[in-house]
Amino acid sequence: MKRRDFLKKAAVGTAAATATVAAPAVIAGPKRIRWRMPTSWPKAFDTIYGGAETVADRVKAMTGGRFEIIPYAGGELVGGLEVFDAVSQGTFQMGHTASYYYIGKNPAFAFDTTLPFGLNYRQQNAWLYGNGGIEQMRKVYSDFNIVNFPAGNTGAQMGGWFRKEVNSVADLKGLKMRIPGLGGKVMNRLGVTVQVLAGGDIYPALERGVIDATEWVGPYDDEKAGFYKVAKYYYYPGWWEPAPTLSLYVNRKAWDSLSKEYQAIVSTAAAEANQKMMVDYDTKNPKALQSLVKKGVQLRTYTDEILEAAQKEAFGLYAELAAADPTYKAIYENWSKFKKDSDQWLSTEETAYAAFVFKR
Ligand code: CA
Repeated sequence: MKRRDFLKKAAVGTAAATATVAAPAVIAGPKRIRWRMPTSWPKAFDTIYGGAETVADRVKAMTGGRFEIIPYAGGELVGGLEVFDAVSQGTFQMGHTASYYYIGKNPAFAFDTTLPFGLNYRQQNAWLYGNGGIEQMRKVYSDFNIVNFPAGNTGAQMGGWFRKEVNSVADLKGLKMRIPGLGGKVMNRLGVTVQVLAGGDIYPALERGVIDATEWVGPYDDEKAGFYKVAKYYYYPGWWEPAPTLSLYVNRKAWDSLSKEYQAIVSTAAAEANQKMMVDYDTKNPKALQSLVKKGVQLRTYTDEILEAAQKEAFGLYAELAAADPTYKAIYENWSKFKKDSDQWLSTEETAYAAFVFKR
């Protein structure tokens, strides 16, 4: 090699090396962030707690580890039912919970989770993502400094564990039952004494007889919780929770501090969690139901008398809430219109298919 060529090549090499070394200083990487995320769930309920883990894992992966979110079980940082306040007040930047725990603050939060005799999984997602649901809910949350995302769904739940059979509305009267959300309000109108307990507090209450009945989620979670050891009648369908959405809450100020890229990543991670949780439940519930039946659990369907009375009370309650609160009314009207059209479509096709193919 001639000396001139060598010098030329060396110069190029040096320039390239300099550029490589200098690059990180010129293009500053996104800042490192570490957030804590209280949840409403015991870690043992890995599917529902998994919704929070999916959000954390995916955000970490999509940011190359620069944005780290640490989930905590209910009770570790704050009580399972205190996630809303913790995020609203900015004590923590993020939380994973179920919005219907907070209908005492505004009954419209029920729409974010589920309504008795409301939407199924497909309908719930179609309403939230495609028919103004998320936007309408965001207006309600804005009063509380929270930005909300769907981040999990259990699908249609089971109808709970009872020590004694309940064949009629008369059998429900006087029972003490753990059941949250508007489902609890409907049960109350049917004569049930309602309690709202976080997931970790239910079994001891049922075992000690503080409550006579409880609902939780479905076969996979309920078997883990061990309810079958103290109540053998397992009812379905869980008419009060046809497809509850679990929610990711982000404190407004914390949200505004994120770059547009990180905001998009959080939103995408929540959507993944929303889908993955349903996949996990649909994977785990079939075997768990078989296992419970082998353990002697008695499956029972709610009688038409109970279902019809509950449905009547539910829609009576919605009319009262709509009359009392313009926010609730606006969401309810949008939701009802979507439901009517969607029910008609699904009953034309989906129900006919299911009725033929899914016979027990
Ligand atoms: Ca439930």
